[in-house]
Parts: sequence; structure tokens; C-alpha cells
Amino acid sequence: MRYVDEYRDPQIAHALAGKVAATATKPWVLMEVCGGQTHTLMRYGIGDLLPPGIELVHGPGCPVCVTPLELIDQAIRIAGLPNVTFTSYGDMLRVPGSHSDLFAARANGADVRVVYSPMDALKIARDNPHRKVVFFGVGFETTAPANAMAVWQARREGLTNFSMLVSHVLVPPAMRLILESPANRVQGFIGPGHVCTIMGFREYDELAREFHVPVVVGGFEPLDLLEAISMLVSQLEEGRAEVENQYSRSVDYQGNIGAQKIMREVFTVSDRKWRGIGEIAASGLVLRDEFAAHDAERVFNLAPLSVKEPAECISALVLLGQKKPADCAAFGKRCTPMTPLGAPMVSAEGACAAWYQYKRHV
Ligand code: SF4
Repeated sequence: MRYVDEYRDPQIAHALAGKVAATATKPWVLMEVCGGQTHTLMRYGIGDLLPPGIELVHGPGCPVCVTPLELIDQAIRIAGLPNVTFTSYGDMLRVPGSHSDLFAARANGADVRVVYSPMDALKIARDNPHRKVVFFGVGFETTAPANAMAVWQARREGLTNFSMLVSHVLVPPAMRLILESPANRVQGFIGPGHVCTIMGFREYDELAREFHVPVVVGGFEPLDLLEAISMLVSQLEEGRAEVENQYSRSVDYQGNIGAQKIMREVFTVSDRKWRGIGEIAASGLVLRDEFAAHDAERVFNLAPLSVKEPAECISALVLLGQKKPADCAAFGKRCTPMTPLGAPMVSAEGACAAWYQYKRHV
């Protein structure tokens, strides 16, 4: 197939859904790890095509959703400092911190700018040598290489006015946490295609073996996801727990070796707090000491914060596949995209936003 509409062909979609129905002899709970996959599943009503026993639950793969509340508050504090230009991808601006968001900081006079890549932020730093330019480096393994490259380049150019507020998280430790939970319901994973484009899929072998759970790396188009679901159901029905690759047009076993190299050069693995979920061991990336001069947390040396999540928001349970957005009492009432209580209602990859946009009637 060459064109995107070929990945949305209704006849093939129905044939794949029919294959799932013919294969499944019992109910199965499957999780799509990535928020981009959640939005495709919702937008195209793929859950409605499947037999009733196949339940899809949503995973933690929404970087905006898992960025800790404290870090949003720190971002707002840094943005409000004199002589600072704070840069970020657009969807981070609307994510609520404990009292406010970056949009409000901008309205109050802070120099907060939307950029489309960390290299845009680097250019702002180059063009404004007397301002301290900070980039909000958020995301999973997918965005880590570009962010690493920006920091590496800043050091190479001696751009001492550029720093990054890092909130990078890693997928496999979160999948492990889900599988280790006594409340876990997930029996098979649609693996995160974009993350695997960078990292390959060898790191899922251990999870599949240890927890006897199948993982199929999936793409982001409707047929990608239906094929991944069909592959998962076949494995489950046959009692297999293997790592398979549906998204072979982008992903191979080893991943992008060059991207992994720059990540390793600039970042090191650390424990990381996930919004709502709490600390997960070895689940994040921080800048290595050699790059301390570009680490916003060290440059601005702000006192640590400890803040409480809104009690009403059950986003952690949504991100762990234990609840659906509609199970939240605030969904569509006190929490909407215009009045979000939690990050999953804001992000373009958030499960609550997907339900609000495509399943508001539930
Ligand atoms: S609907 Fe809003 S309050 Fe409820 S879990 Fe989602 S983001 Fe949190």
C-alpha cells in the first residue's frame, strides 16, 4: 500500500474485524499503549466493529498526560522569572498545574512561546543571546533523540543561554507496572509504533516471556490497528506470548541505532514520577552531568514542590487500563476540553479527550 486512504479501506477493515470474530472463542482485554492509537480507535469506531468480547483499554502512552503536576508548576515558575523565554509544544500550554497553566502565565506577561521542535528553541536562544531560553522537553523515547540533539548542539555552539526542562519517560517500565498490578486486566498489548521506530522491539521480549503476555507492535491507521488486534487475538487463542511486528513499514527489531546513540550520549536513565501514578523505578531520562549547564532544573535551582492531584481525577486508573474515561464522575461535566481537570482531557493524545470528541454520547 502506498497512500494513506488505503490504510482506511472499509472492506479490508470489515474483513479483518470478521477474522477477529471468527478467531475469538472467549473474551480478551487488549491495551493500546499509545495515545495516538487511542485516538484512531475512537475516531474510526474500531471498538464497535469488533465482537463484544474484545475489550480495548487505553494505555499510558500520552506524554502530556504523564508529565507530573510538580513539573508543570516548575515550568510556570521558570516562565515567570525575569529575562526568561519559555518554549514548548502547544499542547503543554493548556495542561493544568496545581493552580494555573502556561497559557495563564503568558496572559500574565511571561514570555511563553509555542515551538514546533527543540531546534526552533535553539534558534531563539541563538538570536537572543541576552535572554535565558528554556525548552520543555517532554515525551517518550520518540522525542528523546531530537531533544538530545538540541542539547548536544547547544553545548557544541557554547549556547549557555539555552536549557531544557526535561520530563522524558520510558514505555517498558510502565508496561511492567501495569502487568505487576494485582488489578491488572490487560492480556495483550498493541505496542507503541512510534516509540519502536526509535527503540526497535527487542526490549519487549523480556516482558512477553516473564508475564506470558503477547505484544504486537502496531501502527496508527485503522487497518494497522485492526491487523494488530487480529494478530493479538490469534496469539491469545493459540496460547502464544510472542513479540510480533505489525508496523514493519517503520519498525525493525533493532530500531534506529543512531538515534539511540545520541540519546545515550546526552541522557541517562533515572527514576521518574508519572502524573497520578507516582514514581516508577528507572522509567525516565535525565541529562547527564556533562550537560548540567543546559539542565533547567539545575540552572534555575528551584526549590522542590510537592502538590496534590485533584481528588476527582481518576486519570491514573485510565492510563493503567483499569477504568474508562466515562467511569470518571467529572467526565463531560466538570471536566471538558475547555475546563480540564486532568491532562488526559487536554492532550491531543489523551484518552479522555478522545472519548469526549468521539464518544460524548456514552
Ligand atoms: S475526565 Fe477529566 S477528571 Fe476525569 S479522569 Fe479524565 S482528565 Fe481526569
